[in-house]
Amino acid sequence: MINQDRPSLNSLHCIELKGVGPKIAEHLKRLGIVTVQDLLFHLPLRYEDRTHFKPLAHLKPGDHVQVEGTIAHVVIKEGRRKSLVVRIEEESAYLLLRFFHFNTAQYNLINRPGQRVHCYGEVKWNAQGYEMIHPEYYFVKEDQPLTTSNTLTAIYPTTEGLHQYSLRRLTDQALLLLEKGGELSEHLPVAILEELALPGLTKAVHTIHRPPSDTPQETLHQGLHPAQQRLVFEELLAHQLSLARIRMRTRSLQAPKITTQSTLPDQFLMQLPFQLTHAQKRVIHEIVQDLQSGSPMLRLVQGDVGSGKTVVAAAGALYLISAGFQVAIMAPTELLAEQHYKNFLSWFNPLEINVAWLTSAIKGKKRDEIAENLLGGQLQIVIGTHALFQKEILFKNLGLIIIDEQHRFGVHQRLALLNKGMWGDYHPHQLIMSATPIPRTLAMTAYADLDCSTIDELPPGRTPIKTVVLPNSKRQELIHRIKDNCLAGAQAYWVCTLIEESEILECQAAEEITKELTACLPELRIGLVHGRMKSKEKEQIMFAFNNRTIDLLVATTVIEVGVDVPNASLMVIENAERLGLAQLHQLRGRVGRGSIESHCVLLYQPPLSRLASERLSVLRSYSDGFIIAQKDLELRGPGEVLGTRQTGLIQFKIADLTRDQHLLQNVQRVSEVLLHQFPENADLIVQRWLADNHLLSEV
Ligand code: ADP
Ligand code: MG
Repeated sequence: MINQDRPSLNSLHCIELKGVGPKIAEHLKRLGIVTVQDLLFHLPLRYEDRTHFKPLAHLKPGDHVQVEGTIAHVVIKEGRRKSLVVRIEEESAYLLLRFFHFNTAQYNLINRPGQRVHCYGEVKWNAQGYEMIHPEYYFVKEDQPLTTSNTLTAIYPTTEGLHQYSLRRLTDQALLLLEKGGELSEHLPVAILEELALPGLTKAVHTIHRPPSDTPQETLHQGLHPAQQRLVFEELLAHQLSLARIRMRTRSLQAPKITTQSTLPDQFLMQLPFQLTHAQKRVIHEIVQDLQSGSPMLRLVQGDVGSGKTVVAAAGALYLISAGFQVAIMAPTELLAEQHYKNFLSWFNPLEINVAWLTSAIKGKKRDEIAENLLGGQLQIVIGTHALFQKEILFKNLGLIIIDEQHRFGVHQRLALLNKGMWGDYHPHQLIMSATPIPRTLAMTAYADLDCSTIDELPPGRTPIKTVVLPNSKRQELIHRIKDNCLAGAQAYWVCTLIEESEILECQAAEEITKELTACLPELRIGLVHGRMKSKEKEQIMFAFNNRTIDLLVATTVIEVGVDVPNASLMVIENAERLGLAQLHQLRGRVGRGSIESHCVLLYQPPLSRLASERLSVLRSYSDGFIIAQKDLELRGPGEVLGTRQTGLIQFKIADLTRDQHLLQNVQRVSEVLLHQFPENADLIVQRWLADNHLLSEV
């Protein structure tokens, strides 16, 4: 029972509240509410003002108001849509209450001329006068005084079978318990609350459920009232703290400590036909420092398409290899894995390093042999797709995992890899390369368990890509232009993009377009590459394109990442309006890799939605991936940019990164303060918000 002195609302279950039986408890559970604390954290969707009654004579269309009146008469109107219409009157004014959903019982119940009623709803105007459709209404006794609420009325998210009224009565009880000293512990130090001008937890919760009548409603509806922001802040903080703790834990693990001074990395860099950019040198230096620390590196290297992340990864790999460790490189597609394989082979073979590549397509004897050589240590570096991390693949001494082009790689996957690669007491280092830059504050929030490096400089001598946006009606002219260009020695891509999210359809479309283009352009050598071809075939086509025996390459989005053919200087992206900014930027990055001026044509099917048209114009105006990422953030919001929808990277109960971005900087700062000065509070906050997410809540 709930007569303890200071019940902890966290351990007190709703079933103990008045009026909650097994059935209601079941409904509540569907809303994620088990304890009284859950109930208090179940925040209103919106608020209604029932703090006063508006005279019927003063109504205006669009008002959301509470009114009082006497039922004059009740009729069922047969019209286009049958409706029950109740006329209520007050002095000489009247209002119609209209119900489209009703049954005989309801009709009988409300058919009571002379009965006083209170109603709440939105006022609309129609030819018969003012009306409310499906208002909330209560009968009141003749002599009963007008009772108004003295706070705004909370409307909660609810579920079938659980009435607003019940939720309101339950929160009333919960708030009463809170007032009587029931515990909803304050985990934020007073000094911090004062500094941020945020109310204490108890006060905040009270205000959110029962805002005083003079609370600015606009602010409440936007979720920007200090009381609401206080809870949002704590939730964001919980996430930040949990990632920071994961990072601290990672730092306490052991990893190969690379201190030997080897000349191998320098040898490698010397043989390159170019000089590293300053940014590349800086990032390699940051990596080396991690490798010397003795705990696992968990570093994200962000760099725009073409900024030269691969050589940075290669240099990193060499530090491990020269110290006697193995390296695994994981790419998201076979095509990219293969491209890396070729690069590494040409770079590392002269240094007498054995390189292998492994995808799910490699089977049987070949696969067994690779597995054996990885276990035996004869292979120093293996490149592949996620097939690398299957159970039967064991390493002798894996020291570094490099993950390329995976910006949708959540904390769960990072941790899984950290454990998987473990041998003896050692955990491998991890280097994550991403070409999709994420604005800084967001990166600090989503990747707080990682260190970040940025390659913010492109190799010199790149000519910017000219981008044009064309409607499909210009297709024939475009095809002619391609012909002229290719006959003059240029190479081009024609990219077919996802149709209805189906790879099969995408490949079919690419085949169709290949036919169309082959018919129009008999003078050109046209090739086709798509995701459902055998890797041998893909390899041959890419090889031919690289060697300029193909002029025009029709491709699906498999070429999105990593493909590097410097002579290709023209790209057409079909149905560009269907793709997101990040993906378009990635695709476009396949051209503009040499010194020749490159062009990208974004072909679209009219009509363009407003958002699509903004995306295309961002792409036409900007080439810097960081600016494009910022625009993407403005257009789509952080949830989409981080890919939280797809991966559950971070899921919030009440915070909304788009609305609450302005809090992030303080969240990061306060997180540091708590971890260092109030570690127990930090634990409690994580527990409060993330208890149901074991990976994030465990220390
Ligand atoms: P990304 O960052 O998109 O993965 P890559 O590593 O594929 O870029 O590099 C793109 C191209 O630029 C490659 O052909 C690579 O050899 C070349 N490159 C890398 N660094 C430099 C540099 N410092 N100067 C000139 N070319 C470079
Ligand atoms: Mg790359």
